[in-house]
Amino acid sequence: MSRSLYSPPGALPPACVAIAAGGVEVGDAPFGDPCRRAGAHPAAKFCIIDNAVNNAGALASIGASPCHSLQVLRCGRAASTACTTHFNPEVRTMAIRNHVLLETNYRRLRDHPPRVAVLPWGATEAHNYHLPYGTDAIQATSFAQRAAELAAADGARVIVLPVIPFGNDQQQLDQVCTISITTPTATALLRDIARSLVAQGIDRLVIVNAHGGNQFQPLVRDLQSELPILIVVANFYQMVPDVRAAVFDAPGDHADETETSLMLHLRPDLVELHRAGAGERIAPAIDGLRQPGFWTPRPWSACHPDTGSGDPSLATAQKGQSYFDAIVRSLATALVDLSAANKGDLPYLR
Ligand SMILES: [Zn+2]
Repeated sequence: MSRSLYSPPGALPPACVAIAAGGVEVGDAPFGDPCRRAGAHPAAKFCIIDNAVNNAGALASIGASPCHSLQVLRCGRAASTACTTHFNPEVRTMAIRNHVLLETNYRRLRDHPPRVAVLPWGATEAHNYHLPYGTDAIQATSFAQRAAELAAADGARVIVLPVIPFGNDQQQLDQVCTISITTPTATALLRDIARSLVAQGIDRLVIVNAHGGNQFQPLVRDLQSELPILIVVANFYQMVPDVRAAVFDAPGDHADETETSLMLHLRPDLVELHRAGAGERIAPAIDGLRQPGFWTPRPWSACHPDTGSGDPSLATAQKGQSYFDAIVRSLATALVDLSAANKGDLPYLR
């Protein structure tokens, strides 16, 4: 190759491994074609064409962390400023994903107009002491982008919008730096996003929700009567219940074994498991409210002293990968079918 991606090249280790787009290929030296085209340094150890999130599984299979690999060589985008020591920002265009709106461009979208938009929606909140505040946003984005990648490979015309990083956290506002948006704000955001899509002829929208405090049903009922667009909600924590039951030993519902496993798979560099609390849940004292069918929001800090709900100690990256793969397969199936749907195929009427 004529151009090195990194400086100083002398700092790079000699062994070479190539990881191609989507993290689906792990090859030996010399680099595979995608890496060579991107100008990979011939002496670098890893070449990453896709983002670190999608490649976490592939990296784990060769015993490397995303951060370590990014320090060595990265042909694609810079995902973490802590990991970009050797990244030359001049070379970064080989990794554009047509199904990710923040990466693609007007020419590509004009040539391949999408039919289905996917909106990841998270929250910015404490996740016990060991997971990042961005956990829900990272998970929602990862589910959406990987599922769209699979769906696009199956012929779906799909585009993933930027994540909404804020959710309804009204019961956690006493926890430092938790940011909450109320239902009117969420409704206004969703309405304007849907209205924008309708103006461009995109009339199918899938919300990929990663935060249990986000309740979209009332919003969608209202908006779908206002706008000619089919809006679908996919709550990841309710998807693939059989896999969830089979994979996990003691799932809870927040920063627990399931979420910790997902993050150990997706972003192990952001997990400080040694800091985790037990995720204890203090039971309601009013017995009459513990019967089926009754609900009131938990005063979070009082019910969950470390903010977690469920013991994270049994989490593993392998469990996270199994769960993640099942969720994205399910989501990809829905995206393919929605992309192929004709008006009149219930519930797609408008
Ligand atoms: Zn979460």
